[in-house]
Amino acid sequence: MDQFFSSLLKKSIIPLENPPKWAKLFPYAFMLFLILISAVFLIPIFCAYICPLRIIYDPPAVTTTFQWITALIFVTGGLIFLVIGPLLTKKRLFCSFICPLMPANTLIGVINPFKVKINIDLCKKCGLCVKSCELFAITKESLAKGKTIIECAECGKCMDKCPAGAIDYKLMFTDQNIRFFYSAGNYL
Ligand code: SF4
Ligand code: SF4
Repeated sequence: MDQFFSSLLKKSIIPLENPPKWAKLFPYAFMLFLILISAVFLIPIFCAYICPLRIIYDPPAVTTTFQWITALIFVTGGLIFLVIGPLLTKKRLFCSFICPLMPANTLIGVINPFKVKINIDLCKKCGLCVKSCELFAITKESLAKGKTIIECAECGKCMDKCPAGAIDYKLMFTDQNIRFFYSAGNYL
């Protein structure tokens, strides 16, 4: 949902490029907390109480004061991180700072042999890739090293924006360009 709202406007109204480190670490701590608490109470806490999709497929009953307060926090958080925030910043705030599934995606990205790499010899230092990444996965520091950070979802949006053709898919540990694999996938 945050992807949809982050793509609605052409330009961000609130530029947000360098989130604090603790905000980027929150999903990892949140995932650990959910695993521990779910194991203790033997309840899938995320699916039962936190997943925003539940409001669509199984809206929880709201009758007691506690349930009203919880629902208010839930709806406000959803509006900020899934709708208004992504609309104004053009960033996927829920996926970047809340979703406890993000660390699992990151782990898959780490073992994926296909990597997004930046050729710093071609780079014009325009910063468009940093601005266009909805997941904050290219920073000024990582750009200087020709890399994305581990949360990169390999979506390729930065490649489409790069005016120098400096960003590409490469085979892990090599300089072998493997963009054709991704392109071929479009015709399968
Ligand atoms: S491939 Fe996608 S997620 Fe990765 S740095 Fe580029 S825009 Fe960001
Ligand atoms: S968009 Fe391309 S040219 Fe611009 S800073 Fe990023 S890698 Fe360099």
